[in-house]
Amino acid sequence: MPATAHRPREEVPLREPGPAAAAADLVDQELLDWCRRLPKIELHLHLEGAIPLDALWELVRKYGEDAGLGGPAGLAERFRYRDFAHFIDVWVWKNRFLREYDDFTLVAEAVARDLAAQRIRYVEAFFSPGDFAGHGLAVQPLAAAIRAGLDRVADVEVALVADLIRDTGPEVAATTLEAVAEARELGVVGVGLGGSEQSFPPEPFATVYERARALELRTTVHAGEAAGPASIWGALEALRPERIGHGTRAVEDPALVGHLAAVRLPVEACPLSNVATGVVGSLDEHPIRRLRDAGVLVTVNTDDPKMFGNSLAGELALLQARLGFSADEVRGLLLDAVTASWLPEPRKRQLAGAFRRHPAWAAGPSVSSAGRRGRRG
Ligand SMILES: [Zn+2]
Repeated sequence: MPATAHRPREEVPLREPGPAAAAADLVDQELLDWCRRLPKIELHLHLEGAIPLDALWELVRKYGEDAGLGGPAGLAERFRYRDFAHFIDVWVWKNRFLREYDDFTLVAEAVARDLAAQRIRYVEAFFSPGDFAGHGLAVQPLAAAIRAGLDRVADVEVALVADLIRDTGPEVAATTLEAVAEARELGVVGVGLGGSEQSFPPEPFATVYERARALELRTTVHAGEAAGPASIWGALEALRPERIGHGTRAVEDPALVGHLAAVRLPVEACPLSNVATGVVGSLDEHPIRRLRDAGVLVTVNTDDPKMFGNSLAGELALLQARLGFSADEVRGLLLDAVTASWLPEPRKRQLAGAFRRHPAWAAGPSVSSAGRRGRRG
């Protein structure tokens, strides 16, 4: 969720940071280890929410504001949240250290190295140019700076998706979109619409999305996170996106779930993000199991992992430990994400083939850990 993010229905304390920290004490180590070894794909990740703490610390020091923090551990302390409003305050505070194009090169390289180390092979990552316009940063050179950092890491492919940010209205979004189109040669493949979903409904952005299609950009929309099914229906009907970001609250409308299943419109689910921001009361209440069982094409994603302390491996392990997903269903979720990606068809087949040939793919979690689980009734 970007800086201007939506307020959820209720405010709850967020979990502490640290890769898979949330998962580690809730699932057995063998299950988590298997998910870490698996080759993976992610379709809903905000670059600015995925910055490893040591890279962010470098920028804090660059701008001479390290007083009182002491080091990356001090940043981790700062990433403990009292509530959602506090999380937003910290997000805005963090973005103050992204001021120059070079900062984005540094951050993008660090994010890519972190993704590669997690065996995440392909990512479609949001960046929110509007959040940095105030620092005088323009879209095309910003995308170029990010691409320069990403290009330094060989083991992960990252396509960029520009978040047009609903809070600044359709006119600003339309202007940003034209600049985004100029950045397509830098691997910007699509656009999304994040921000305050409750206050800014999707319908006024219809012409912006029409123009995005004319520019041959792919489209997704954050919907059904901070607002209910009407926001998802509005997004589907007015914006005609190719995917829905979150889609969590679709489950409140059976007709909507039936529609999403019938048209196989991919949903970028972000389970632990939804727990952290209070969209759902707990992981056990997350509708991802129900949506998938109803035939909806769901994918699993981390949203802002360094702000929430989650990881893709941790999410996949928790789905098995808490929501009754089998190892084969986890493989299915990853293959569904390949299907839902915006890669060209030959690259999809190549990536799915590489997943299936990976030694961890067939191996599965060990018998001892698998024996302690089982589908919930
Ligand atoms: Zn998001």
